[in-house]
Amino acid sequence: MGIFIRNAHVITMDASTGSEPIVRSIRIENDVVTAIAADLEPGDGDTIIDGRDRLVTPGFVNAHTHSWETFYKGRYDNMPLEMWMAMAYPILGDSRVEPDLVRLRSTLFAIESLEAGVTTIVDDVLENPTQDWAQLSAVFDAYEEIGIRANISGHVISKPFVDTVPFIADHLSPKVTAEIRSHPVPTTQEYLAFSRKAFEQYHGRGNGRLRYMVAPSAPQRCGAELLVGATQLAIEFDAECHIHVLETKTQLVTGTEMYGGSLVEYMGRIGALSPNTTLAHGIWLTEDDMSMIAAAGTSISHNPISNLKLGSGIAPWHALRTAGVNLGLGTDGCSSSDSPRMLDVVKAAALLHKVTNPDFTTWPTVDAVLHAGTVGGARSALLQDTVGTVEVGMQADLVIFDLDTMAFTPRQKLDRQLVYSENGSSIDVVIVAGRIVVQGGRVTTVDRSAVLAELAERLDEIVARQNALDSLNKPLLDALAAMYDRAVATRGTVNRFSDDERAWLV
Ligand SMILES: [Zn+2]
Repeated sequence: MGIFIRNAHVITMDASTGSEPIVRSIRIENDVVTAIAADLEPGDGDTIIDGRDRLVTPGFVNAHTHSWETFYKGRYDNMPLEMWMAMAYPILGDSRVEPDLVRLRSTLFAIESLEAGVTTIVDDVLENPTQDWAQLSAVFDAYEEIGIRANISGHVISKPFVDTVPFIADHLSPKVTAEIRSHPVPTTQEYLAFSRKAFEQYHGRGNGRLRYMVAPSAPQRCGAELLVGATQLAIEFDAECHIHVLETKTQLVTGTEMYGGSLVEYMGRIGALSPNTTLAHGIWLTEDDMSMIAAAGTSISHNPISNLKLGSGIAPWHALRTAGVNLGLGTDGCSSSDSPRMLDVVKAAALLHKVTNPDFTTWPTVDAVLHAGTVGGARSALLQDTVGTVEVGMQADLVIFDLDTMAFTPRQKLDRQLVYSENGSSIDVVIVAGRIVVQGGRVTTVDRSAVLAELAERLDEIVARQNALDSLNKPLLDALAAMYDRAVATRGTVNRFSDDERAWLV
């Protein structure tokens, strides 16, 4: 008794056909794809889906996101990363979010992701002052119930904020600096002990669907001992180590001001680059950085929409591919990109890198961006043998699009229409691990209206808390703006702004 999809258009993303649509029938038994062929018959008792006007693709892998930001959707605009972070990840005055709200926000995020065809999320979850057991359990519980696949972190920042950005001490009063310093940060031992316990208790929950990952926030936000310890722990548990690297010009300057050079070179030197490591963003990289990342087998999660919204710069997509770096795609959190829709990200990646270079032979192909949104993301999440393709033996994580929609009318090149015309509104069915979790475009595994009603009931309280934190942290923005201005005016090793006036700063 399985699921049988008869004669559908299929984009397999496997090594032989890639993104080229082919007509096939698919049989799913338990949680895996057991057959794909042109002439296939259903098994006894199979649920049969008529695929005539349907396109089947692998579920998308969101290779970098933060469900933490779900309640912050739409709140901020026109602030660079460091200023935005002061609001969305409050430096002053934040306290733990209650586990029931963590569960609510994770469920909301998973509903929106699944209904957008995203079957795997790499969810880098930050709690203030650091991850703790009740919050981590709430995230795992939410995802176990709704049926999404996820790598879930304990995100960690182990240095006071004032030690993680350049020049800031010159712009903050000693009183504010002292107050920021007085906030407790976890020690390396505390974080590694927490993570070991999380691996032992949570890694592989939900029949292997849910995995724990370590996530040092960024090289400049954690000590060397923690970076290396987390990398080794990830290798020991065959898990992902997820880390933000060189997202902004400020971070490039942080490298030269605080580490005497490239942050990537620093990570390589201390032993914090590995095949288990994914660098989120990787924008302000030099050619040497890219070679080092490729040689280490480290992946990069590219987040074009978040990078555009926060004005972070344009990642060197073509150079990274040429260097041989595995690329996944991510939305980033719901406050820096305001949506977990991976189809938007796939389209943005396809478009953005056509304006960075007039040589049209280097422009991203539909196959390349779909590969990054599925196979590349799966590799970066260490799930390359599990998801990312529609293939016999792989987990049945599939999206079924209705082709009788305006996005696919007239039917020309379905793969190109998927990237350039479709926004997720044609999604009919989503399957994760052989279980139908979305039908008719709506999640079926949780009571959607009850979740939305719970949010409506709690929203005033959530927003009041955010407003209070905004008021407390707003006074920091002037200092951060001054720091930002100095950083962008500092000579750097590369220029990733599209603004020609900055080119002289290289
Ligand atoms: Zn991020």
